[in-house]
Formats: sequence, C-alpha cells, structure tokens
Amino acid sequence: MIRREESLDYHGANRPGKIEVRASKPCLTARELRLAYLPGAAFPCEAIAADPLPGSMIVLGGGAVGCELGQVFSRFGVEVTIVEGRDRILPLEEPEASLLIGSVLQSEGIDVRTGMRVESAGGADDDVELTLEGGATVSANRVLVATGRTVDLSELGLDSAGVVANGRFVDVDDRMRAGDGIWAMGDITGKAMFTHAALQQSATIAGDILGRDQSPIRYEAMPRVTFTDPEVGSVGLSEAQAEERGLDVAVAVKNVPSTFRGWLHDTNIQGLIKLVIDTGAGTLVGATVVAPSGGEVLGLLSLAVHQRTPIDALRSLTYAFPTFHGGIGEALGAYARGTGTVIDPAYETSGHLL
Ligand SMILES: Cc1cc2nc3c(=O)[nH]c(=O)nc-3n(C[C@H](O)[C@H](O)[C@H](O)COP(=O)(O)OP(=O)(O)OC[C@H]3O[C@@H](n4cnc5c(N)ncnc54)[C@H](O)[C@@H]3O)c2cc1C
Repeated sequence: MIRREESLDYHGANRPGKIEVRASKPCLTARELRLAYLPGAAFPCEAIAADPLPGSMIVLGGGAVGCELGQVFSRFGVEVTIVEGRDRILPLEEPEASLLIGSVLQSEGIDVRTGMRVESAGGADDDVELTLEGGATVSANRVLVATGRTVDLSELGLDSAGVVANGRFVDVDDRMRAGDGIWAMGDITGKAMFTHAALQQSATIAGDILGRDQSPIRYEAMPRVTFTDPEVGSVGLSEAQAEERGLDVAVAVKNVPSTFRGWLHDTNIQGLIKLVIDTGAGTLVGATVVAPSGGEVLGLLSLAVHQRTPIDALRSLTYAFPTFHGGIGEALGAYARGTGTVIDPAYETSGHLL
C-alpha cells in the first residue's frame, strides 16, 4: 500500500514527473500463508531450496503451485504424491485441462489423489503420515503445503489509516484508491492474485497520482498460467461460468496433437485448445490452452477476450503455419463448420473425455 504524504509533489494531469512516496510505516503490504502446522512441512518458497532432496514428498493441494512443484520434484527423482481435496486437480481450470494434466502427471509416476481431504497428521520430520478422509493414509519424508494463500490484514493498523477492509481484503476503487491519499495494490486487494495484476495495478496507481485519464483494469480478461509441462494458459470464463451467467454458449475443443504443429512437433505431445464462445454476442468470452508454451499462445486469446473481438474477425485472421497458435484457427474452423459445440474427434478418442 502506498500512502501519499503531504510532501508529494502533485502537479495534476499530463505533467510528467517523479512520484515521491514516503510511508509512515516501512510497508503496509502483506501476504501470509495461513496454514496449519504440519510436521516436516515446507511452503513452496522454502521447498525450492531443498538440499538434499527428500526421497519422497506429499504435495498438499493440487492447484497451480502444487502441480507445478509436484512435477518439478518428481522430475528430480522425488517420489511425489499430490493430495487434493476437490474432485480434480487444477479445480479452477476447465475440467478438460484438469484431466489432461492429471494424466500427464500420472504418466510421469506421480500419485494423484483427488477428492481427499487431510484429517490429521503425525510422524516426525523424516517420516510424515497423513490420514485422509475415509481413513486412508499417505506417508513421505516431507510435505509441501500448497493449499492456497490468503492475506492477513490483522496487524496492519488499517483502521488508524482510515482504510476500509471488507473482512478479507482492502477495498479499492477502479483507481486502486483505498482512502484519502492511500492506494492499495497486489494480493492485499484480492482482485487477482498474480504478479502481472500487481504490476498493472501499480501502473494504475502511478497514473492516478500523476492525474492521467486511464481505463480501469479489465479483470474479466486477466490471464493466468500454470507452469506445468505442458503449460496451462487460460483467460476469461470457463464453459460452466459462461453458462451460469446465462450466456448462449458454444464450445470448440481442438486436440493439440491433431493440429499441424502438434503433429509435426513431437509424437508424445499432449494438449488442447478450448474456446468458449458467447453465440449471442458473437465473441470469445473464455479460452484455455494446454500446450508447450501454452502461456505464449494465450496472448492472442487474452487480447481477443479483452477487446471482445468478434469470432468472425478471429476466424478471418491468418495464422502462421506451423505454429501452436495456429491451432486456434483450426479450432475456429471446426466451430464454423459445426452448429455449436464442436469437439475434435481426435480429442474424444484420446481418452481425455472418458
Ligand atoms: C509459489 C508461488 C508461485 C507463484 N507463481 C506465480 C506466477 O507464476 N505468476 C504470477 O503471476 N503470480 C504467481 N504467484 C503469485 C504472486 O507471487 C503474487 O500475486 C504477487 O507476488 C503479489 O504481489 P504483492 O506485492 O501483493 O505481494 P508479495 O509479492 O507477497 O510482496 C509483499 C511483500 O511485503 C512484505 N511484507 C508483508 N507484511 C509486511 C509488513 N507488515 N511490513 C513490511 N513488509 C511486509 C513481504 O515480506 C513481501 O516481501 C505465485 C505465488 C506463489 C506463492
């Protein structure tokens, strides 16, 4: 959080200049991993410094961080078990992405347990045993806790600064203003807990302090990437979310191995492109790309969702051959030929829809 002190030289609109920030406290930004203590447990930032590597590890939580680090440790030879309480890993992503990444992780030897919450933990530092709902147990040398993050506002003295918090996060307006001469950014606002969101918010704050007119951040077009191999990049609404909003939804799913680039790239390639289309508005409202460099392919789709680009415009775009992003054109081609939801037959026969 930045507090503008009286000494800030504020000249108003369009005048370039320097923003001087003096904080009355060293920093009011906070993020806390509020997690129960477990014996032998490590949080992600500690885990990556592990030396020597443990022989085995339970990753508690199959979200983005759990899947990323679970795969990393597994590839370094650690025996990994991922335990996820929801019925699928990557529960915030499209089910197709969860299924595909789950099968990739399992094919690499990772034990993926879903729909299982931890009830209790025991053991010592070198031998942790977790008891799961239903009585099953899993044990390993270490536990990596990746069950999500929250912010801790309790000791920041927000009241004394006149800042309103809605219980979990600091309330901000479109200009990231949290109060008179006070701005908040990053995880503490609960808007989108990503580095790129914080960076964009910081630019909004700087623009506001300099008095610039600027468009509010479009959080509905906030991209997110899970850096597994293959990567999962997604933006906007999932199919289920679009339906919940009452949109007339059509979906196009293309199997990456059956795209030109996928076919050329590697016989073992796995991936998919899923496009969520609002047929009423004729625009793309959400997209998921699971592919090598899926986060890069996502760029084009983020722009399309951000700009509410008509599907016809996306379809008339020329896609370079042979590229991964060309798969978007192939998925749209199939959608154009179909009458609504179009699933690549190669995707259906790949077993991921089973
Ligand atoms: C393992 C992991 C992987 C991630 N991967 C990605 C990713 O790939 N892409 C992505 O976009 N995002 C990722 N994130 C999320 C990203 O790190 C956060 O969204 C981002 O760092 C938020 O920035 P922030 O400034 O709000 O908080 P932080 O980066 O957490 O910075 C807050 C700082 O404030 C300090 N602080 C806290 N309280 C006080 C206090 N009272 N006084 C002084 N200092 C204090 C903290 O020590 C910290 O340095 C990841 C997060 C984790 C945990």
